[in-house]
Amino acid sequence: MIPLALLAKTEFLYAIHLFWPIAMSSVSLPALQVILASPRGFCAGVERAIRIVENALIKFGAPIYVRHEIVHTRYVVAGVKAKGAIIIDELDAEPSRAHVIFSAHGVAKQVFADAEARELNYIDATCPLVSKVHKGAERFYREGYRLILIGHAGHPEVIGTMGQLPAGAVVLVETIKDVDRLDFPSDAPLAYVTQTTLSVTDTADIIAHLKKRFPDIRAPKKSDICYATSNRQNAVRSLANEAELILVIGAENSSNSNRLVEVVRQAHCPRVHLISSTDDINWNWLDGISRLGLTAGASAPETLVQQVVAACEERFDTKISLLTLTEENIRFRLPHAVADVHPA
Ligand code: SF4
Repeated sequence: MIPLALLAKTEFLYAIHLFWPIAMSSVSLPALQVILASPRGFCAGVERAIRIVENALIKFGAPIYVRHEIVHTRYVVAGVKAKGAIIIDELDAEPSRAHVIFSAHGVAKQVFADAEARELNYIDATCPLVSKVHKGAERFYREGYRLILIGHAGHPEVIGTMGQLPAGAVVLVETIKDVDRLDFPSDAPLAYVTQTTLSVTDTADIIAHLKKRFPDIRAPKKSDICYATSNRQNAVRSLANEAELILVIGAENSSNSNRLVEVVRQAHCPRVHLISSTDDINWNWLDGISRLGLTAGASAPETLVQQVVAACEERFDTKISLLTLTEENIRFRLPHAVADVHPA
């Protein structure tokens, strides 16, 4: 056989062309075990919110206005926009009697009042577990307690929860330092509620500090952090013990996705990246990695997970395994206005 170095350029290319299939088949791909966390991805509140928009589009036709991103995932938002939804920041531009949907994060009471004043046909897609926090906050307030909300400033859910009560009735704390700065007397009638998508462990630390400073502070009957948030955090914590690198599929502005990244770091697995899709993967991250962990925030659809798996299969000799911590079978009923639509 002629050494390749002695071939002219065209002959060289021809030789490559002839032997390419053989060369390709003899190249073995590096081995990669992809460990999928379970549960991961869509929660019952997100599934319900998307169904509400889709059913409204079928029943009332486009356009359907959605106040704020229905859930924090570009893929989902692009999907409902393609079907005729229009995302708006505030209620101001839509014509009267237009159909408007409020996002899964919940809205302040003033938003309902504004919608009624403008004679809009609104449907509330607030997750029932966020509504439960709203009701808890209102109950404490009626009973005479000052409210402390543990959450992240500026998040739509926090704005919505604070907006259930008159201005000034709720004090927001984000950290233990914020708790130190509270200037209530230790026996003040206080109660707390929390955002539903917080870190379970960080929130437990803040609550412990609140109880130390204010021993009589009232707590919700059951944790406000929702089942989906805690299940996904538990699953990714276990994943951090198994994987050398973890990819979290979600969005920069998604609270629960960001918390998953933090949980991984706290579990001493420093190699973790938040990606919104396969396009965000820098494949150099996987150099020397043989066990990749994969999870998705509560607003990220399974399609995005499967796209990452498929991209891995193109580049690696991939084996898939599942790390299941718990099974979820929660479903929420749809609002009456769109419950009678049954998509084909
Ligand atoms: S993350 Fe929890 S609170 Fe938020 S929509 Fe999902 S189930 Fe509801």
